[in-house]
Amino acid sequence: MSLAYDVFVNDPPPRNDGFLPNGDSKGGSPVASTLIYGSEEAVLTDPAFTTDQARALGDWVAGKGRKVTDIFITHGHGDHWFAAGLLAERFGARIIATAGTIAQMHAGVAGRPFLWDKIYGGKIPPAPVTAVTVPRNRFTLEGHDLLMVEVGHADTDDNSVLHVPDLGLVVAGDVIYNGVHMYLGQSATVGFGPWRDAIGRVEALSPRFIVTGHKNAGLDDDAQRTIDQTRQYLDDAEELLRTESTATGFFGAKIARYPDHLGRLILWVSARALYGVREHPEEQLARITLNSWL
Ligand SMILES: [Zn+2]
Repeated sequence: MSLAYDVFVNDPPPRNDGFLPNGDSKGGSPVASTLIYGSEEAVLTDPAFTTDQARALGDWVAGKGRKVTDIFITHGHGDHWFAAGLLAERFGARIIATAGTIAQMHAGVAGRPFLWDKIYGGKIPPAPVTAVTVPRNRFTLEGHDLLMVEVGHADTDDNSVLHVPDLGLVVAGDVIYNGVHMYLGQSATVGFGPWRDAIGRVEALSPRFIVTGHKNAGLDDDAQRTIDQTRQYLDDAEELLRTESTATGFFGAKIARYPDHLGRLILWVSARALYGVREHPEEQLARITLNSWL
């Protein structure tokens, strides 16, 4: 039996704590979850973070009529996995990730009271880290190989992607983006070189399809287009960092180049972190990125 995949995109939970410099409400980014399935069983990826998102995603998954064996998490950012426990319980599934991602998940839990719970209050369920590793980062779905590939730093440290060779598919988490503003804050001190290396590692897998962790649901999953546009976004960011002297200027210039991109909150957060590091090189990056969200 051959495999197939389908994607569910959860809308961001609403925020009512102020506005962006151009007057937009803060909002957030859509989160994409992928269901890879055979005739009986399925694997789910990155199941978002609020209780409401877990319910919407879970109902969609239930409608597919497969037994969910595993839930794979690409990286440690809470918006990709705080709801994983609810889905694991609903479907009796195991949560799996690389050792590097599991360490980042623990860091995400430690930082949760200072960031996520401040912004989203009671919308996020309890999320102890229950993910486990699998030998050689490999597992199977109805006899087909699924490979966790470690690609290093992208929008955070220790990113991984899921390669499904028999589908020509890579589930890329936040290494590749698709029509959504990219989170650049955690690259503010290291620059975009490591992220470009990570993109190259994804490209070396020769995928036909890439499902990104944040996508505009109206766009397709064409691998080369999403790779090219992700590189271009980094190129543009580097150029604008040279030509714009303030975070507000960077924010406005990016919107002018990417008027249809979703998630302008993420653009503003990224701009604040990038210029925060420039203006306060003595401060810890973790403190600057935290403040950029609040
Ligand atoms: Zn993300």
